[in-house]
Amino acid sequence: MGAELVEVQSLAIQLKPQQSHPDVQLAYIGRFAPSPTGPLHLGSLLTALASFLHARSRQGKWLLRIDNLDTPRNKEGSITDILNTLDAFGLHWDDSVYYQSQHIENYEGFLYKLEQNQLTYRCNCSRKSLTGMVSDDDHENKHNIYPGICRNKSITPDTPHAIRLKTEPCSLSFHDELQGLISHNLGKQHGDFILKRKDGIIAYQFAVVVDDYLQGVNHVVRGCDLLEETPKQIYLQQKLALPTPAYLHVPVIVDQHGYKLSKQTLATAVDTKSPNKTLFDLLVLLKQNPPDELIGTKVNELLGWAIGNWQPNGLALCRAINL
Ligand code: GLU
Repeated sequence: MGAELVEVQSLAIQLKPQQSHPDVQLAYIGRFAPSPTGPLHLGSLLTALASFLHARSRQGKWLLRIDNLDTPRNKEGSITDILNTLDAFGLHWDDSVYYQSQHIENYEGFLYKLEQNQLTYRCNCSRKSLTGMVSDDDHENKHNIYPGICRNKSITPDTPHAIRLKTEPCSLSFHDELQGLISHNLGKQHGDFILKRKDGIIAYQFAVVVDDYLQGVNHVVRGCDLLEETPKQIYLQQKLALPTPAYLHVPVIVDQHGYKLSKQTLATAVDTKSPNKTLFDLLVLLKQNPPDELIGTKVNELLGWAIGNWQPNGLALCRAINL
């Protein structure tokens, strides 16, 4: 009992952020947060470049975070690979690299806060038990949301369980700088989503909220694949009384079949041998219209031009770019 109390107190202390609160930081702070599940492919480099240019064109900081919590998916050597690729493309980050794996106590602290406010519950449903529970013609539940089976159960801590957030059937809207107004019904479109998985791993949705806060991030520029996830993150920010950053979701690169380039679709690693050519091509894809004179110039020169001329509005309402 005594030991438990001490543990709880130390968690409460860890709720303090490591940097000053984002509210008192007026300057732009952006970030790029790759998962070390393989080398960067063209799609992830495009996101990195857009996020870098947006930050630098506003004299902002650009931080690098390695999203390495999902250990079963991490691939050895990826971190070094990602850092080297960013370096080769002149995408130099500020401050030291933030590794999620070094912040477990912070996530636990914030989770404890939600638990104290009765906003979470334990869930021991297996993926298998949930499959088939929702029929295809069930329009009310077309997003395959969790039907709340464990919401009112009392599952003991020693039973293997995930931790879910209780969501309400409320509408949540935000304005994306490129994609416009996004409105979701939390309960209907997302349901009680997982904060901590049954295997003990902190879920992405939860970690990203804590990380952005701890890093003081006030501008999130990332791929459109995460656009529909953003309402969950804003909902969590609200529940934790954390500030909501500005969001800008850039289109993702899709292959000829319309699939997003990803490690799953076996997208190839970017070639670091001629970074200026790749950068030029990416600027074209980002609709920056780089002048032909810049073909073959040094990476730094190209980036300097791109920072000075960065104008993302040509991508408004565009969610995917064909290669
Ligand atoms: N780590 C995530 C990914 O590689 C990105 C997280 C984010 O930008 O919020 O897809």
